[in-house]
Amino acid sequence: MKSIFALLAVLFICSCLAFAQNLDERARHIQTEVLGIDGHNDSVQHVIYENVDLGSRLSDGMIDIPRLREGGVHVPFFALWVPTYYRGSEAVRRTLDLRDAIERVLEKHPDQIELATSARDVQHIVGQKKIAAVLTVEGGHQIADDLAVLRMYRRMGVLSMTLTHFRNNDWADSSTDKPEHNGLTDFGKQVVREMNAIGMIVDISHVSDKTFYDALQVTTKPVIASHSSCRAFSDVPRNMTDDMLRALANNGGVVGVNFAASFLNQQDADELKKTVSSENALEPTLTGAALDEFAAKEYFESKRALAVGHATSEDAAECINHVVKVAGIDHVGVGSDFDGITLVPRGLEDVSKVPNLMAALLKRGYSEGEIKKIMGGNFLRVIREVVGD
Ligand SMILES: [Zn+2]
Repeated sequence: MKSIFALLAVLFICSCLAFAQNLDERARHIQTEVLGIDGHNDSVQHVIYENVDLGSRLSDGMIDIPRLREGGVHVPFFALWVPTYYRGSEAVRRTLDLRDAIERVLEKHPDQIELATSARDVQHIVGQKKIAAVLTVEGGHQIADDLAVLRMYRRMGVLSMTLTHFRNNDWADSSTDKPEHNGLTDFGKQVVREMNAIGMIVDISHVSDKTFYDALQVTTKPVIASHSSCRAFSDVPRNMTDDMLRALANNGGVVGVNFAASFLNQQDADELKKTVSSENALEPTLTGAALDEFAAKEYFESKRALAVGHATSEDAAECINHVVKVAGIDHVGVGSDFDGITLVPRGLEDVSKVPNLMAALLKRGYSEGEIKKIMGGNFLRVIREVVGD
């Protein structure tokens, strides 16, 4: 009798292992067919501060071209992110520095990566087995309150802009600052209209809830939340409430689920809250090289803090699943925030691990077609609708 139980136990374990292996294999298969888009990364920071070569597999950081290929992410959105303590023309200067840094990557590896400035570009470049780089600006303060600067960014190949970053700017409230403008000011509304007019995607990650609703009232095009997760699972202001998710769906927009452990798991969020107040205190009044030095110090400090959180790839799948339930399958994507986060989930430590997320979605019963929408199809639709073919 004992041996029968033992045999049954062995058979059960074997079938579980076979199931898991089968999921991994199916995930790998889908990965070869999917057009993978990641709505947000901060890898340009890695390039500008450490002059790394994204063309070769790096021993640190979360993104490089070999690992993008391994993870099935063909279309990374490279954020030109400038901290909010760069003000006015300093923010514009720094944006140009970052634009130059990514240009050097493109120039060095024309056989591996190319700038995409339309939906057709994306498909054409990926079709040639290259990485299609999409550029974004992360923070409305980077236009220095000047629509001409915004238009120049668009001409430099930037396809989207986050309206705010960590702090309020002169025309929009941030989710992580004290409300100052009650959402968007009249000029902020003008920025949204101008973005619609020039084919630039409005990104509402980082904005306050009121700014989000104001932006939706003004925009005539779908918006994205390039890297935000669900407040249902992690109650932080950077995440979206269910009501916001429904409003985003009505707008035709897409949320790219952020992989930061603290945005996926409440335990990690609670630990983040303890550290975030001290970060708020940093407000240098420097300019030029001294300001860049300050920013570099901050970059290396946050890099040293890199750790694995309580969250796992299952939490990321749960958040995606939640968005699908609340907003529908057409309104969710992935916005890893890789190279911009310090606490990663187990199983999603870098971009090469993205197939783990696909396996977690397969386990939840998602079809191949649905996974293709989540992993890139939905973001591609928004690019087509806003930027154009
Ligand atoms: Zn961000």
